[in-house]
Amino acid sequence: MASNGANYQKPHAVCIPAPAQGHITPMLQLAKILHHRGFYITFVNTEYNHRRLLKSRGPNSLDGLPDFKFETIPDGLPPSDADSTQDIIAVCDAISKNFIGPYSALLSKLQNSAPDIPPVSCLVSDTVMTFTHEAAEQFGLPNVLFWTASACGLLGFNQFRPLIEKGYIPLKDMSQVTNGYLETTLDWIPGMRQDIRLRDIPSFIRTTSADDFMLNFLANEVEEISKGTILLLNTFEELEHDSLNAVSGIYPPVYAIGPVSLLLDQIEDEKLQSISSSLWKEDTGVVDWLNTKEPNSVVYVNFGSITVMTANQLTEFAWGLANSKKPFLWIIRPDILGGDSAVLPPEFMTEIEERSMIASWCPQQQVLRHPAIGGFLTHSGWNSTLESISGGVPVICWPFFGEQQTNCRYSCVEWGIGMEIDNDVKRNEVEAQVRELMEGEKGQKMRKKAQEWKIKVEASITGPHGSSYNNLEKLFKEILPSS
Ligand code: UDP
Repeated sequence: MASNGANYQKPHAVCIPAPAQGHITPMLQLAKILHHRGFYITFVNTEYNHRRLLKSRGPNSLDGLPDFKFETIPDGLPPSDADSTQDIIAVCDAISKNFIGPYSALLSKLQNSAPDIPPVSCLVSDTVMTFTHEAAEQFGLPNVLFWTASACGLLGFNQFRPLIEKGYIPLKDMSQVTNGYLETTLDWIPGMRQDIRLRDIPSFIRTTSADDFMLNFLANEVEEISKGTILLLNTFEELEHDSLNAVSGIYPPVYAIGPVSLLLDQIEDEKLQSISSSLWKEDTGVVDWLNTKEPNSVVYVNFGSITVMTANQLTEFAWGLANSKKPFLWIIRPDILGGDSAVLPPEFMTEIEERSMIASWCPQQQVLRHPAIGGFLTHSGWNSTLESISGGVPVICWPFFGEQQTNCRYSCVEWGIGMEIDNDVKRNEVEAQVRELMEGEKGQKMRKKAQEWKIKVEASITGPHGSSYNNLEKLFKEILPSS
């Protein structure tokens, strides 16, 4: 192969997301920004997810950009042709045990590929991919960490060890989840209000075992952040000022550079923009359908890429939405019920046929910016929350797991854009909340607040004064000088 003298001059970032949709998307967005700033990019996915990316957009969908290459490593899990989210515990276990070998081998290959590929100059790693610290040390490379969730969520995970030490967790028994124990307030967490409750802390504390895998995995991962060179967060200072201050006290240096989706939008490069991170095939017909709807008239319902619910919960949501009489766009992932396929009652389908639409996956960022969307029933995943704020859309929160509980609390109490629906979801409550969101006084207030945040988030990514814009510039100047 002919050598490429120009490439050799470029800084080379090896970007590795955690192997899940909500991590791949922001990491790819960051990688594209780095590429635009002159970096050669190697983007590393697991074989499982790479296959799904190609399947969702077509076999050539990841080619075409010079100096932006995709590589894969095996996850070590049993091979599968499935098109669904992998078991989260199995994946986290695989990250700790199986990734370091193939990842180091890949870095070796890249380092020995000169002159066709420039030498690797830095690793850009999802914070939960802590095995990358070992590789960074082995190859003498800086490891830039990217926390793709909220700063408040990170503070929550950071409390796992203190909560164990203070005897709050593990729970004595699981009845404590519903008997009021989780309402206990924790008035000593730096950066958090004194009335934050145990139930607002990431959900993995809801265990009776001190050896619980996710509890320990996350407690360990957030401790390992200190080994990174710097910490980037996909959030913005105006939204998470206090949390970011507290995070900076724990893990300096910290750069809030979010939402990276909006920073990326400013780049005019069709080829770059066309590389998709979607693991499912998007139904673009939803946008045509939204085009036929009045402004602020449609409720958008989507619980992200990992949430699973029971058939009963699905039915309660269905009838609550139908009974609200509001038009809705509901994305029902094929694996939303875990193993079983989701079947909605035929009477429900008849009832909603005229005014609503159901699809299995959609271009969510585009949907949340569509003027027809008046509210979002969400699981409070961080990307979804940021995308909702970016679209100025208020939310009803039904958090599923992880730091979604914390995001829900902040959406409702700190940012004034949300209200929470009980985990034990009932159709009457869904109906009442959807009506309130779309036509009630509280809904109006939340919409106004969401619109205010939309203005603030746009200011944050706009130069020369925007906070995220400036943090990104500072990052390039001080840490990642581009070519
Ligand atoms: N998403 C999408 N289409 C869908 C559902 C989700 O593009 O139909 C995207 C969404 O825009 C977001 C990501 O998937 O960027 C989900 O991430 P989030 O952090 O909200 O939740 P998770 O899936 O990690 O629980």
